[in-house]
Amino acid sequence: MNAAAPITPGKVLVVGLGISGMATAIRLRQAGWEPTIVERAPGRRTEGYFIATMGAGQAAARRLGVLDDLPDRTPGPDGANFDVDRDGNSRRSVGIFDIPLDPRPMLQLRGDVEDTLFTALPADVEVRCQTTPTRISQDDDGVDVVLRNTVTGAETTERYELVVGADGLRSTVRSLVFGPHEQYLHPLGYMIAAFQLSRVPAGLGPTDGAMQFEVGRSLIVYPFADHLPTALFSYRTEDIDAEFAGSPVDRIREVYGPAPYGELLEEVIIEFGDAESRLFDSATQVKMDSWHRGRVVLVGDSAWCPTLYSGMGSSSGMAGGQLLGDVLENSSGSLDDALTEWERRMRPYTDAYQQAGLLGAQLFTPGDKKAIAMRRGFMAARRSRLLRPVLALLLKAIPSFRMRNADIAAETAAA
Ligand SMILES: Cc1cc2nc3c(=O)[nH]c(=O)nc-3n(C[C@H](O)[C@H](O)[C@H](O)COP(=O)(O)OP(=O)(O)OC[C@H]3O[C@@H](n4cnc5c(N)ncnc54)[C@H](O)[C@@H]3O)c2cc1C
Repeated sequence: MNAAAPITPGKVLVVGLGISGMATAIRLRQAGWEPTIVERAPGRRTEGYFIATMGAGQAAARRLGVLDDLPDRTPGPDGANFDVDRDGNSRRSVGIFDIPLDPRPMLQLRGDVEDTLFTALPADVEVRCQTTPTRISQDDDGVDVVLRNTVTGAETTERYELVVGADGLRSTVRSLVFGPHEQYLHPLGYMIAAFQLSRVPAGLGPTDGAMQFEVGRSLIVYPFADHLPTALFSYRTEDIDAEFAGSPVDRIREVYGPAPYGELLEEVIIEFGDAESRLFDSATQVKMDSWHRGRVVLVGDSAWCPTLYSGMGSSSGMAGGQLLGDVLENSSGSLDDALTEWERRMRPYTDAYQQAGLLGAQLFTPGDKKAIAMRRGFMAARRSRLLRPVLALLLKAIPSFRMRNADIAAETAAA
């Protein structure tokens, strides 16, 4: 199949067993392709941090046939959210994703979405763990990929008609085919640390959440209906590289210091130190002029990471993979035409989500006292019976909010 010739589904290598990779593999299999997924890690991740699946993600999940299998762990009316401070003051607030949007966000663990997609992978989709690409070269008719077993070091060269890089923020496929990370990574000047709590923090009920916002740093405890909460630290930094010089736990103690930290912060920092697995990373967006080169295409965080502050990384990864399959299936042009068409349809949404990420960073981690007061006002409006409907109307009028709930495949099919 020549990249300029009409598309005939063939062998496709999907790099990355995350949300974007699995969504893409499911849809491409439906469209007649033969996916192989390679994953660098020894096995599939489980659990992970808090995720809100917005309307755009729900629409994509429905199109992939998995929406009904996604667990919704949104706490019921018994759960409450509190704004706390280190002096022990606590006031009722709303959850960070308690936004008057229709449909309302589904609250989950990342592992929930990954489990659901993994279960939906057709049996004939091969999944190979401990495998990573080390070289990718292409000609008009196909892509040769050198795949290395990360344990034995053994390498094989395999040929595919299409390669999908769904290997996350620091994508190997992107660096092998498009160029070094520095060209595409845009750190926002924030660090995040996320992990699973082993118990409900003192003073909170099983489905209660809590938030502690201070200038340039915040802690959020995300509650679930039927699962232990997860925690997120988010703070501003001027020097990303220096953040990785020491231990994450020491760094969190330093950034959130000086002690006393207050009851909640102290407890969560101790838990962070004891956590079996934790994410500690910079909040970084990926910006690229084009997501495809020849027969290699990037999907999800590898292509457009909007950061957690947008609340759209998982949703857009599912939507992007789903739409890619749609476009490849229905295109009457060449592979290049189809990938260009897919980008044209996806990009307005990912641009909006990246914008939302920039705004969200300030809501998650206010930079000064005025921003903290504004955030508090925004949360109070969400709680108010009078203001909530007004806020819902206002949010509908803001394109990036409306686009969070768009059925991207349907909305762009008409365009
Ligand atoms: C704390 C936090 C909260 C978030 N909250 C939300 C939210 O509320 N809503 C939302 O929509 N999104 C949220 N996100 C973002 C969302 O989790 C990500 O955007 C999404 O999981 C990205 O999926 P992905 O498949 O594109 O990439 P990843 O999840 O990064 O998956 C990439 C996969 O590729 C594998 N891989 C990497 N390199 C290689 C290689 N060289 N070879 C083979 N395999 C490789 C990795 O091991 C991984 O399995 C949040 C993120 C964080 C960190």
